[in-house]
Amino acid sequence: GEILCVCERDGKRFYCSTMVLLQYLSQRYHGDHVSLTGQGSPRVRGLSFREGDIASSYNIQRRSAITCPGNSCLWPKSVDGFVYVPYIISPQYVYHHIVKITIEIGMLDIFLETCVKFVPRSHETNYLDIQPGFGCWSFLGMTEGPQPLSLQSPGCMWSGIVSHELMHALGFVHEQSRSDRDRHVSIIWENIMKGQKHNFKKYQTNNLNTVYDYGSIMHYGRYAFSEDGGPTIIPKPDPNTPIGQRDGPSVLDIQKINLLYECGT
Ligand SMILES: [Zn+2]
Repeated sequence: GEILCVCERDGKRFYCSTMVLLQYLSQRYHGDHVSLTGQGSPRVRGLSFREGDIASSYNIQRRSAITCPGNSCLWPKSVDGFVYVPYIISPQYVYHHIVKITIEIGMLDIFLETCVKFVPRSHETNYLDIQPGFGCWSFLGMTEGPQPLSLQSPGCMWSGIVSHELMHALGFVHEQSRSDRDRHVSIIWENIMKGQKHNFKKYQTNNLNTVYDYGSIMHYGRYAFSEDGGPTIIPKPDPNTPIGQRDGPSVLDIQKINLLYECGT
């Protein structure tokens, strides 16, 4: 968008439009919690959903998140040290201006703290095609060509949900799918909706030597896919530990993006 100001935060300079900045600040300080649960239909236009909101096509079905051969599922790093992730926002959105602002805020939360820079597409072959599909979902990591990322409006129009889907597109699975999750949460299998148990599968993940993060934007809420209102995920040892926030990426989420993309090295 148009550059209206230069701002400084934590000694870093960045450009922004005033609207985006104001929205950014107001959401930061007045956001409440949104927990992302099942997105309804398990199949949309031939894509299968394996973890609620992660789409997989045949070529990536066996890929487990942030471990792929030769890091081919990561967005490439530019010679200037930044990782540019081109995107387009579908013209099909109604209230396009508001939609654009919300999406930009979700991008800013990652953009400001990491070397991953979301940029409007000019001519790139691989890019995110952000569109109002059915529910909120994304592919894992970079696929080839235009890569659909669905943010239904208004259901997914929350900056934390945008950041969540963007993190899938960067290659992150849900926090409770981590290989070491059983030491940190109990999955209450009998409370999970019929046909939804696959959403609680564990993956062989690269945990980047980071501790398990209950506050991750990638963590499910405690009632995700609940059959009859009972919890499906209980943290341990303290069952009251909050999980499932969608305010914005946690400190550890940011750290993980910086580690995975080797920002600053
Ligand atoms: Zn997700």
